Amino acid sequence: MLLHVQHLEAWMTLSGKRAVVTGSNSGIGLGVAEALAAAGAEVILNSFTDRPEDHALAAELGARHGVPVRYIPADMSKGAECRALVEKAGGCDILVNNAGIQFVCAVEEFPVEKWDAILAINLSSAFHTTAAALPGMRAKGWGRIVNVASAHGLTASPFKSAYVAAKHGVVGLTKTVALEVAGQGITCNAICPGYVLTPLVEAQIPEQMKVHNMDRETVIREVMLQRQPSRQFATVEQIGGTAVYLCSPAADQVTGTTISVDGGWTAL
Ligand code: NAD
Repeated sequence: MLLHVQHLEAWMTLSGKRAVVTGSNSGIGLGVAEALAAAGAEVILNSFTDRPEDHALAAELGARHGVPVRYIPADMSKGAECRALVEKAGGCDILVNNAGIQFVCAVEEFPVEKWDAILAINLSSAFHTTAAALPGMRAKGWGRIVNVASAHGLTASPFKSAYVAAKHGVVGLTKTVALEVAGQGITCNAICPGYVLTPLVEAQIPEQMKVHNMDRETVIREVMLQRQPSRQFATVEQIGGTAVYLCSPAADQVTGTTISVDGGWTAL
């Protein structure tokens, strides 16, 4: 037993593994990419933009952690681009489906194009990337699929019909894929964060202020963190650490499940 504890650091190394993280030029995706790079993985950053600063971000991350980091643009709202991302990466050992958007509106007024975009980016992209990544993982007999779902994959809130539907779908997809690859050295799990202060959450604050007719501080305290018993935002580093754990041998038998990082939200 002690022997295993002494080897804990070696257990956490992801050296020799290639990770694709969708939607990773910002927020949680960037935090997860950084944690995987810090653990020694080669990392592919992604978003739909193709700006010099996207590629500079990859170069900077790679230099900081001494691992290869590339930026590959691909629009996760388009199935063919999702699949092409995995191909252009040269396949991957670790796939983190993280890209996501949000829109807050009553269901009967919810714009159809927003519904379609949220379902495509937050749910269908994970189907396409997973389908593209699995043959390579099967050939190697090792793979890790980490889907960034949400507390909204397990519970609901009003005015977020598309997001809640998509995230519940991600949890369902996670369980199904886990069953299809069980016993093949591949695991598939979902991380369910509560509120993490990222650009996605920042963007929700004005909308929530309007919907609830409250000021910024009251929305943060009474609406957002009201359901998070710790009354603290989770951090991108904590989500990154959870992803590294799911990629470690400690999690070899952890599959088809959800891990909440939500300050107690879903315990209520
Ligand atoms: P964010 O806006 O900071 O990051 C979203 C990322 O997705 C960005 O890199 C963005 O460029 C990318 N993206 C958006 N549309 C894309 C597209 N069409 N193609 C490719 N990339 C695209 O938001 P975040 O808070 O870091 O969210 C990341 C994930 O975490 C999302 O799936 C979100 O639903 C989930 N999540 C966030 C929170 C939170 O509180 N922030 C809580 C639970 C779950």
